[in-house]
Amino acid sequence: MAKRKRRIPRYKREDPLEAKRQAGYPANAVEADLTQQVPNNSYASKPLYYSDIEFECDTCGRREVWTATQQKWWYEVAKGSLYTTAKRCRACRAAIRATHGGTPRRFHKDRSQNSN
Ligand SMILES: [Zn+2]
Repeated sequence: MAKRKRRIPRYKREDPLEAKRQAGYPANAVEADLTQQVPNNSYASKPLYYSDIEFECDTCGRREVWTATQQKWWYEVAKGSLYTTAKRCRACRAAIRATHGGTPRRFHKDRSQNSN
């Protein structure tokens, strides 16, 4: 049986993204560095790559994309657990961070301000 050559244009063969697509990775995948991920009990669930995930914000319900690069940073640099994913949109996270300011009493303050 003669091997049939796959006809892939040269520019595509040299495109690293195309190589990923050939390997079954999504086009926007970012390769994972498994040695940087926080170890978990199940090796099977360790992602080999990250790709953009759309999620609904827990707080305001807005849909936002958790990008592959953000995931790589979260799991490999911030050492986030592999069981965690994005829950809040950028705006809500910023709002929470701003109101936190290290003081847990913000809710009382907000309420009294709103009732005025
Ligand atoms: Zn939100």
